[in-house]
Amino acid sequence: MLANSLVELDRQHLIHPLSSFRGHERGGVRVLRSAKGATLTDSEGHRLLDGFAGLWCVNAGYGHESIVEAAAEQMRRLPYATGYFDLGAEPAIRLAAELAERSPGDLDHVYFTLGGSDAVDSTVRFIRYYNHARGTPEKDQFISLAQGFHGSSTVGAGLTALPGFHAGFGVPFDWQHKISSHYVYRNPVGQDPEAIIAASVAELRAKVEELGPERVAAFYAEPIQGSGGVLVPPPGWTKAMAATCRELGILFVADEVITAFGRTGPLFACEDEGIVPDFITIAKGLTSGYAPLGAVLMADHVYQVIADGAGEALIGHGYTYSGHPVSAAVGLAVLKLYEDGLLDNGRRAGERLMAGLTGLAEHPLVGDVRGRGMLAAIELVTDKARKTPLPAACEPSKRIFDRAYRAGLIVRAFGNGAIGFAPPLCCTGEEIDEMIGRTRRVLDETL
Ligand code: PLP
Repeated sequence: MLANSLVELDRQHLIHPLSSFRGHERGGVRVLRSAKGATLTDSEGHRLLDGFAGLWCVNAGYGHESIVEAAAEQMRRLPYATGYFDLGAEPAIRLAAELAERSPGDLDHVYFTLGGSDAVDSTVRFIRYYNHARGTPEKDQFISLAQGFHGSSTVGAGLTALPGFHAGFGVPFDWQHKISSHYVYRNPVGQDPEAIIAASVAELRAKVEELGPERVAAFYAEPIQGSGGVLVPPPGWTKAMAATCRELGILFVADEVITAFGRTGPLFACEDEGIVPDFITIAKGLTSGYAPLGAVLMADHVYQVIADGAGEALIGHGYTYSGHPVSAAVGLAVLKLYEDGLLDNGRRAGERLMAGLTGLAEHPLVGDVRGRGMLAAIELVTDKARKTPLPAACEPSKRIFDRAYRAGLIVRAFGNGAIGFAPPLCCTGEEIDEMIGRTRRVLDETL
């Protein structure tokens, strides 16, 4: 009864993110009610294994008392403090220091946002400001990757390469440009890692040449492309692209909104490649989804140019909730969990996940298995030799999601027929095996 009235209220009043308004009016929302560890319970009492950690964010899993306690304690003591007027509060200061200490190289300066989109947005503003400060304001062109996702703010949606985020929104494309993704499974140059890296480097060089090196400000890439279908570049790809940026005099922004905080193993996926970008954007796993928080990690050499350029002038970029004390207190509690065994558990579970998914490669529908750590996908095809995608007309993403839900599993089904996995890092081996088993059942039903 309660659930029915909620469904009706939802239909009438709640605009869901990334939804079809008309489709939403027809369909019924599934209301999630509670969760513990990696298991969600919906309003009808169905128990679901969360193979996607909410939206690739609940890395610690649900129901962690230490996180809840940290938030409650901060709410009691000081629920809000602005960072304006040179005021501050302990949690944001401490969290910034902890992140600076753990991040690669000289990424020593931290600017807090509310999530990933505004973290990306903030990098664009800071990069433009930086170029004004150093006397190169004409460096105002930005490059990102096809299949990339960098949020859905007006600016970030332009760096995002998924067409659904563009059509009808008047995204400013005159200064945002794309080059091809590494997409190993469907790369026109084949699957040889060296050939893919060489092709990407050559395309970046050509794009910079076309735009004019003196006009290009920055290149953005996710260490593993998430929303584009979990596309894992060949080892060495990110390192080669970062080195090319440095050589060409353009900044490299690693968007680690998904990949940071143990998703691929280490705290930052950039550590996998031993690189130090000029900026890293983070969100999601920073608070494990228990409270909204994102951040920009800024390299010292960029910070110094901005600081020198501005002198005593105010740098006009800030939010009411920048460095919110409750979110920052949550971030500190979550960081402790990562170091008290969560990263290690995630590494072990990630090996099990990859082994389990590799075991599905023989399934007639599975064309590709890819991933690193607890971030993975299988891509479904109707003809393995030809790599024929599932027909769009059969709405693979909706059908697969629905089938998985009925099998007691939440996964992300992408429009191209890929199924994404990003389970909480706290998963046990048995939970991972159960996810694989349920996935196999979904595939068998889809045949
Ligand atoms: N950047 C990347 C790589 C993301 O995956 C996302 C969200 O999924 C964002 C940015 C945007 O983050 P948010 O949804 O917190 O605004």
